[in-house]
Amino acid sequence: MDRLLKGVKEFQLNYYKEQEESFKALANTQSPEALFFSCSDSRVDPNVITQSKPGDLFIVKNVGSIIPDCGPHWKKSCTGAAIEFALAALSISDIVVCAHSDCGAMKALYKEPEAFKDTPNLQEWVNTAIGAKGGIDAMNDEPTFKKLIEITTKEHVIESLENLKTYPIVAKAIKTGKLNLHGWYYDIGNGSVHTYNSDSDSFDRIAYHHDEQESIRSHAAQVAAQGVKSCTHEA
Ligand SMILES: [Zn+2]
Repeated sequence: MDRLLKGVKEFQLNYYKEQEESFKALANTQSPEALFFSCSDSRVDPNVITQSKPGDLFIVKNVGSIIPDCGPHWKKSCTGAAIEFALAALSISDIVVCAHSDCGAMKALYKEPEAFKDTPNLQEWVNTAIGAKGGIDAMNDEPTFKKLIEITTKEHVIESLENLKTYPIVAKAIKTGKLNLHGWYYDIGNGSVHTYNSDSDSFDRIAYHHDEQESIRSHAAQVAAQGVKSCTHEA
C-alpha cells in the first residue's frame, strides 16, 4: 500500500501539475470518445493500450469483460446502467469490448464446480459467458490449453457484441447509424490488439505500416502537448 500512497503524492506533484489546465477543464464535464469494456485483470489498462488520457474513455471493468444480455435477471446490472448512461447522457458513438490473453475468467469456464465452493458469486458471474465454449465443442483438433483459452476468449468477444445488441438503447442507436460496435482481443505478452471483422469472421491485427511511424510519433507528441481535450457533456 505504501507504493500506492507514494504514487498519489507523485501524481499531485508531477502529473497533475503538468496537466493542471486539462484537469480543470475536466472538473465539471466529460465527453469520452468510447464506452470501453475491459477485464478487471491488473495487466489490462485501456488507457495504456489506446494511449488515451483521463476524459477519453468511459470504462467498465469487470471480471472477464462480460456483458450479460438484457434479460430480466440482469435488470439491475451495472453493465446495463453504464450502457444506458453512455448512450443517453454522453452520446457515445462507439463501444469497444476488449478481452485479453490468459484471462482467468475464461480459464474458469473449464474448472470443475468444486473449484468454486468458496466463490459462488464468481461461479455465477463467469458462467454468464458459458456460451463462448459452444464453438469449441465442435472442433475436431485438440488444441493446447493456451490455444483453447484464446479461441474461447475470441468467441466470448463475438458473443458479447451480440449481447450488446439485446439492449434496446443499443439496438436503436445501431439502427439509426449512431453507434458502432468493436470487439478487440489484446495479447498481453506481445502487445498486439486484434479487432473482430464480421465480414471475414476473423480477428485482424491493428498494426501500423512502417511509413506511418513518423506521423504516429508526431501525433503522439501533439496529443501530449495539448493535454486532455476540453469537454462538452456533463456526467
Ligand atoms: Zn480477464
